[in-house]
Amino acid sequence: MTSLALQAAAVRAPADVSPSSFDQLGLHPALLRAVADLGFSTPTAVQQAAIPAALPDATGAAADLMVSSQTGSGKTAAYLLPLLHTLLQASAETPARGVPRRGGRWQPARPRVLVLCPTRELAQQVSADAIDLLRHARALRVATVVGGLPYQQQLQRLQGADVLVATPGRLLDLQRGGHVELDAVQHLVLDEADRMLDLGFADDLAAIHALTQSRAQTLMFSATFAPRVQQLAAGIMRQPRQLTLATPQQRHQHIEQRLHWCDDAGHKRRLLEHWLRDGELQQAIVFASTQVECDALAEELQQAGFAAVALHGAMPQGVRQRRLQALREGRVQILVATDVAARGIDVPTITHVFNYGLPMKAEDYVHRIGRTGRAGRSGLAVTMAEPRDRRRIAAIEALRREPIPEHTIAGLEPRLRPQAHRGAGPGRGRSGAGGWRGEGARRPEGGGSARGAGRPGAGWRSPAAARGATVGGRGVGTLRGGVR
Ligand code: AMP
Repeated sequence: MTSLALQAAAVRAPADVSPSSFDQLGLHPALLRAVADLGFSTPTAVQQAAIPAALPDATGAAADLMVSSQTGSGKTAAYLLPLLHTLLQASAETPARGVPRRGGRWQPARPRVLVLCPTRELAQQVSADAIDLLRHARALRVATVVGGLPYQQQLQRLQGADVLVATPGRLLDLQRGGHVELDAVQHLVLDEADRMLDLGFADDLAAIHALTQSRAQTLMFSATFAPRVQQLAAGIMRQPRQLTLATPQQRHQHIEQRLHWCDDAGHKRRLLEHWLRDGELQQAIVFASTQVECDALAEELQQAGFAAVALHGAMPQGVRQRRLQALREGRVQILVATDVAARGIDVPTITHVFNYGLPMKAEDYVHRIGRTGRAGRSGLAVTMAEPRDRRRIAAIEALRREPIPEHTIAGLEPRLRPQAHRGAGPGRGRSGAGGWRGEGARRPEGGGSARGAGRPGAGWRSPAAARGATVGGRGVGTLRGGVR
């Protein structure tokens, strides 16, 4: 299918006919109970658009969908709910199968729903969401297949899985080893499809497409419909409907963005430390550009007394999981992370995201700042750029079609004026970002952060502390507790 045909099939979610409550979506009662338990009262925009579109029609046919979705928008439930509904309907007609084990050997798993994710963290998050949604429907089993976990453990957990959430490489390993059969897959989901292409999974996706040829439905979620994503869709989907929920610049309206120009690395460090003492900071992710920078910065912040740990892709999976768990439980205040490791992190108490090392790709900026302002809360995304970063800032602003408002902190202003930092001038044109310069872009803040950053040493109360546990100082004591 050509991209022209894809465009022709494009639709926008009609706001006026969207269901305003989960009850109106016609979902299985067990799912409605779970949604209520989770405190979801109203479907988010992506859920309003995608759930009815993904459910089977009167003839039982289910449409292929391409959905543009931002992280934090509720996209996971937008595909899990209709697919779990369909499975539950089918299970009511076909009695549940026991966990098969014949002659002492595990039988290959034959999932009916397969969700592909770019990273382990996202896969684990999606699995956790699926298990949450199935809490009142215990007949269905969810399994996760990701690289880095012990093989035997994964084989055991695969048994009888109806829903399989996987990263593509490890899934193909298990399929080639005869541990998973994909011929029963009826519904294939590609979550963060653009990211899977970035990470070089195109061939693996083609192989999985070929192994699941008899499926009834393919759902693709992606931050953008860039040409390479359209090309992927054309290869593996049938006349997909496009649901466009938000443009890059419409996203993250509840996330305040700020840009600080820094003269050099030392200035940048001082600004970061200043911000990490923001009285409103509950938990934060500090993004680094490389794994080396990530490790070094986490160590320096620990030495400066912050409850910080590093998270990047070169760490053993067990360590990554322990650190993420510590973040979720509020035992870690600051996570210093690389782009890949931070994908899929869904911790609503993250109030701040810091772009300390800038992303290599402008699109990653969008994913990074989406780690805050989750589940309806507001968040703050602070980007710290040195003069050498000006082209990357220009690329981000061009993608978002708006400038990141510039700010200064009293006593920590850059020596050079922001205009000089941007390098805008004759002959530089848009690559110097001069084209996005507007009123907001020039407004210096003067008196420190309006959010209380001017209170050095302000204490941090972790979610655990807020619940009554005692946490020392800025959370330093939690590190002594051994988040390793
Ligand atoms: P996602 O975009 O799937 O990563 O979801 C972002 C966050 O929104 C997760 O913490 C979900 O639990 C939460 N969420 C999903 N749907 C809803 C809803 N309808 N109402 C409130 N929160 C939701």
